Amino acid sequence: MKKTILIAGPCAAESKKQIRESIKLAKKRTIDFMRISLWKPRTKPGFDGLKEEGIPLLVEAAKEGINPSTEVILPEHAEKVISAVLKATKNGKVLVWIGARNQNHYIQQEISKIASSNNRVYLMVKNQPWQNEEHWEGIIDHVLQGGIKKSNLFICHRGFSPNGHNPNGYRNVPDFEMTMRIKEKTGLSMLFDPSHTGGSVENVLKIAQEARNYSFDGFMVEVHPNPKVAITDAKQQLTWEQFDTLVKPW
Ligand code: PEP
Ligand code: MN
Repeated sequence: MKKTILIAGPCAAESKKQIRESIKLAKKRTIDFMRISLWKPRTKPGFDGLKEEGIPLLVEAAKEGINPSTEVILPEHAEKVISAVLKATKNGKVLVWIGARNQNHYIQQEISKIASSNNRVYLMVKNQPWQNEEHWEGIIDHVLQGGIKKSNLFICHRGFSPNGHNPNGYRNVPDFEMTMRIKEKTGLSMLFDPSHTGGSVENVLKIAQEARNYSFDGFMVEVHPNPKVAITDAKQQLTWEQFDTLVKPW
């Protein structure tokens, strides 16, 4: 069976202490990339990330043998993160991703171009917030146009913004059928983000179970050393022990 890609770590990088603690806990597990996300799109103004100032935290993780990952909003963010992390190790990998709310195809193509400069760089793209298959395919086409190799590109489903009908009360409503059609049509690795789909620990655990009925290639999960005090998305972040239970069957 093909290996499941696992990305785990806090919603946002908040402090040196929080990331050092996360690195320590991540080292006890087998994950492919740790979330150390520096740029945070927010629904309303608030803490929106450590930004450039946090890049040394990704470098520190890389030096500890943990491949770092972060959302980037602009091409210059991708450039800075990638060049700093690649310099830190000989063989380590780095993942940058384009979030659901970053819907500007010039930016998507430019980030893809930058990510395609080195085989140790991976790019992930999340679906847009609104439920539309053609638009989701278009985003993937734009990104491929930028030059990233298919082998270094992950697509991630994080559900669609609820629009009336939402019987399970998920933060974002998954469309697994559409997701599997996109995976089939593009031949790309398809990951699932149960955290931003579920929106609460209970829902994250529930939706992750449901996702087992579909052939996902990996998962991105928000895990915090102390979820209760998380600055962002405190309700949905798992402890590392909860993460262990979640990934056991994968
Ligand atoms: C995230 O993964 O950090 C995030 C902000 O999620 P999304 O882009 O799916 O809203
Ligand atoms: Mn989050």
